[in-house]
Amino acid sequence: MTETCSSEPRPVRTTCPYCGVGCGVLAAPDGTLRGDPEHPANRGRLCSKGTALGETLDQPGRLLHPEVAGQRASWDAALDAVAEGFRRALAQHGPQGVALYVSGQLLTEDYYAANKLAKGFLGTGNIDSNSRLCMASAVAGHRRAFGEDLVPGVYEDLELADLVVLVGSNLAWCHPVLFQRLQAAKASRPGMRLVVIDPRRTATCEGADLHLPIAPGADVALFNTLLRHLHARGFRSTAPGLDAALTAAAGETGLDPALLATFLDWFAQTPRTVTLFSQGTNQSSAGADKANAIINCHLLSGRIGRPGAGPFSVTGQPNAMGGREVGALANMLAGHLDWDRPAEVTALRAFWRAPSLATGPGPTAVELFRAAGEGRIGALWVMATNPAVSLPDSEAVRAAMARVPCLVASDCTRDSDTVALARIRLPALGWGEKDGTVTNSERVISRQRPFRRWPGEARPDWWIVAQVAARLGWAEAFAWDGPAAIFREHAAVTALARPAPRAFDLSGLAGLDDAAYAGMAPIRWPVPRQGEAGGRLAPAARFVPTPFRPPAHATDAAFPLRLNTGRLRDQWHSMTRTGLVPRLMAHHPEPTASLHPEDAAGLQPGGLVRVESRWGSAVLRLKLEAGQARGSLFIPMHWTDRFAPAARVNAAVNPAVDPVSGQPELKHTPVRVVPAPMAWHGFLLARRRLAPEIADWAALLPAEGGIWRHELAGTDRPAEAFARLRSLVAEPGAAWVVLEDAAIGLHRAALLREGRLLAALFLGREPELPPRDWLPGLFGQTAIGLEARRSLLAGVPADGPPPSPTICVCHGVSAASILGCGGGDVAAVGAATGAGTGCGSCKPEIAALLARMPVPA
Ligand code: SF4
Repeated sequence: MTETCSSEPRPVRTTCPYCGVGCGVLAAPDGTLRGDPEHPANRGRLCSKGTALGETLDQPGRLLHPEVAGQRASWDAALDAVAEGFRRALAQHGPQGVALYVSGQLLTEDYYAANKLAKGFLGTGNIDSNSRLCMASAVAGHRRAFGEDLVPGVYEDLELADLVVLVGSNLAWCHPVLFQRLQAAKASRPGMRLVVIDPRRTATCEGADLHLPIAPGADVALFNTLLRHLHARGFRSTAPGLDAALTAAAGETGLDPALLATFLDWFAQTPRTVTLFSQGTNQSSAGADKANAIINCHLLSGRIGRPGAGPFSVTGQPNAMGGREVGALANMLAGHLDWDRPAEVTALRAFWRAPSLATGPGPTAVELFRAAGEGRIGALWVMATNPAVSLPDSEAVRAAMARVPCLVASDCTRDSDTVALARIRLPALGWGEKDGTVTNSERVISRQRPFRRWPGEARPDWWIVAQVAARLGWAEAFAWDGPAAIFREHAAVTALARPAPRAFDLSGLAGLDDAAYAGMAPIRWPVPRQGEAGGRLAPAARFVPTPFRPPAHATDAAFPLRLNTGRLRDQWHSMTRTGLVPRLMAHHPEPTASLHPEDAAGLQPGGLVRVESRWGSAVLRLKLEAGQARGSLFIPMHWTDRFAPAARVNAAVNPAVDPVSGQPELKHTPVRVVPAPMAWHGFLLARRRLAPEIADWAALLPAEGGIWRHELAGTDRPAEAFARLRSLVAEPGAAWVVLEDAAIGLHRAALLREGRLLAALFLGREPELPPRDWLPGLFGQTAIGLEARRSLLAGVPADGPPPSPTICVCHGVSAASILGCGGGDVAAVGAATGAGTGCGSCKPEIAALLARMPVPA
């Protein structure tokens, strides 16, 4: 194995590591990058996260050396320790006592290696991926309808459609470049209609022709109703299962009848219709049924496998699809081979020379960690993911991991709640260093290429897997010399036991030599040995009856609200990368719980609230939003122990799963919201990051110039907290300028040395404190004079516009500046301020701001 990073300064063609859109990126070793104009997914576009990738490359907190039991170790010692831990667990529990939990962040080659080790040689189905949390329900829906996990459509269908229906998808924030493509198509063809089905009014609703604020969990009811409507309008199909699907219980949608009728008519009248669905649909105890209810409607209306028509599941992660291809979900074999087809199992066993091949599926993610909590897992290897934060009922998950005698984490970062728990830590490569392939939501395989040197002792994930396999006695089966060899083997697996009833075929790529692999352009599967690369698929399909079921846990008098969790525009997963980029934190600096104003009786807007469920609780800042459905609240899923320990929402999320897909119900937990009383609220700006434990409640974020902002609240006496926090940042030769009136609860101080600002601390009794976005700018000044000190402690800039929330992170344009344009449209605001003219991710919010402006008389 050798490092393959190019030493040339020319940009390297690679792929964004964030969402399932899979945008191409041109990246240079110095961190400058731009969208790849030749990549079919994005044609040069990038969203706010993608454009900030260059700022994530040299971040602190990398895991650079192997560690065993908290001590730095050599690679040999660490790998020996992993092998010994797995050997011991196998001896004690058998194959069911060892497990891998992997990630859609892995490259396909890494994924393949991990799955081969688990299913082929450890002989266990105990390997699941965090993709279980993302799109396992769509996978189950595809397999039930098509007999295989395949997405029939391509992104272009969204542009060709006359009606695009988004279900459970905040596409504007979660798949921004795809949303931009959709917006561009709609702008060029105004007759095109966009329908958004979501209990929440999200940014995606801006510019939509119809928003259906459906009752939470009622998607099956809506699509069962649509199926009957289509049948009543004369649509027919010869695919099996229609009668049972038509007679399945429909259920209530909670929609205004007129809105519902409009949607039913639009769908029935529009041959070119795409229904795109995502996590809002999948993360449900009826997620698989939701997928099939959607697919049923496309089958009956014949809207599938044709230009501008089809059901379209989009994945959350950059390589969730690659994980599905190599069988890294517990219920799948490699290469879309299936345990239900004995000839395929036999073929794989022979190909791998793996007599111990697992005989059946293993437990899905929630079940796997439950087994760990019951002491049934002796060795668990977590790769490139953070289950301590991301799984539901996360306190139980942490306790489960603490029970595993040999807990291994391989990751590129040390700053992960899961890595902190691990006994053995293995430094893996990060984005920009890795070499391999990923597959996006439209089945396009792209190369992720390295353009940075390997830092410290970090190594590729596949190499780490192969080294452990060799120590367990299987060196020959894992003797790859690089990712190209793994890719060839993966492609060859897809050719096994053919002819076969499956479309996934990469056999045409099984003979790529290393040079061809290095230069491989994006290519869509299937790629059979003879013939062209694939386009749209029109699979043979069946109807699946989907009787409506309400969510697993109903609300009750004690927990009357429904908790919905999801993503923010500028953050990615557990913030290990995006949480360290100041401009990405500017848009949504603190963890919040968003509630409809009429559900907030007795709660203080902007204050801290405790969100409680039967499983746990989280404390967050209350945000009132009229776009929230009554009776529901929304909380972003990103915050961790590293950033805001009290705000980890998955501590409160219920662990119910879909009985078919095993996907957790992350969108529906009965909760109540109560005040979280604090004696004081405050913020501390300092030149270093302090531990979040400095206060009862803390949320940390980086600001420009290397400054760390600590949003704080506590139950101790304000004057004591003021003194204690000042002592934490005191520096030799520096002096405090203090403005204090304890009688009214005002405590403000600035730490200065030779006219330079070193820290600023504001405390008050109430959560409303002066705006602080502008304060980090003062840290760079060399002579803070009297006037500046006064304005600093007053919390008001001496000159310039009043502080206001950042909307456009590319150009740092605030809401006040946008509103200051005096109206017009998004383009006019862009011309005047630059807002929305960078990556374009903020355009829906600009439109929303303009829509709320009073119309001049
Ligand atoms: Fe990356 Fe944004 Fe493209 Fe997703 S839409 S792949 S996050 S640039």
